[in-house]
Amino acid sequence: MTKEIQSVINKAEKLGLAAYMLEASDIDVENRSRLKCAYGCRGYEKRLSCPPHILSVDEFRKMLTEYSTAILLIEEHDTSGEKDIFNAWSRLRKGSFHKMLDIEYFAFRNGFTFTQLLRPGACNECDICGETCNKPELRRFPPEAVGINLSKLMEKKGLQIEYCNFDRVKCIGILLLD
Ligand code: SF4
Repeated sequence: MTKEIQSVINKAEKLGLAAYMLEASDIDVENRSRLKCAYGCRGYEKRLSCPPHILSVDEFRKMLTEYSTAILLIEEHDTSGEKDIFNAWSRLRKGSFHKMLDIEYFAFRNGFTFTQLLRPGACNECDICGETCNKPELRRFPPEAVGINLSKLMEKKGLQIEYCNFDRVKCIGILLLD
C-alpha cells in the first residue's frame, strides 16, 4: 500500500469509520441489482442520486476498469434505542455521507484527482429532489444503484451486512481512488 492510500485510510479512521483497501477488480458489478431498485424500492424515480436518473450499470462497469484501487468505508451505528428505524436511517446515512465526502475531498487534495465517492443510501440532502439537482456538488450515487454487489464485497473482507439487524446499522460507501 502506498503512503498516499494509507493517509486516506488514516483520515477515515480519524473520523470514526472502518476502512478497507480494495483492488478495483474485487468489486463485482451485476445487472440484477437494478431489479431491487426498480421493483421494491419506494424511492425509485424520486431521487436524482438513483436510477433511472444516473449512469447505467454498463457505463459504470466500463468506468470501473479505469480505476485500480478503492476503499470500502463503513460506519456502524448503534440503533438499539431508536423508535423509528427509517427516521434513524435517514439521519445516520446523512451524517456518514458527510464524513465520507470529507474523505473524498481529502483524497482529491492528496493527489487522487479521479477519486469518486459512492455514498451510503440514496441522497437526502433535500426533502425532495427538483427537476434538476438543487445541490449538484453534493450529488453522489450509492454502490447498489450502479450494480455493485455489496454483500459479496463485504464477504471478501470477512464482513457481513446483516440487513435484518435493526439494532446495528451500517452505513457503507466506496471511495474509488486514482
Ligand atoms: S442534492 Fe437534493 S436534489 Fe440533488 S440528488 Fe440530493 S436530494 Fe436530490
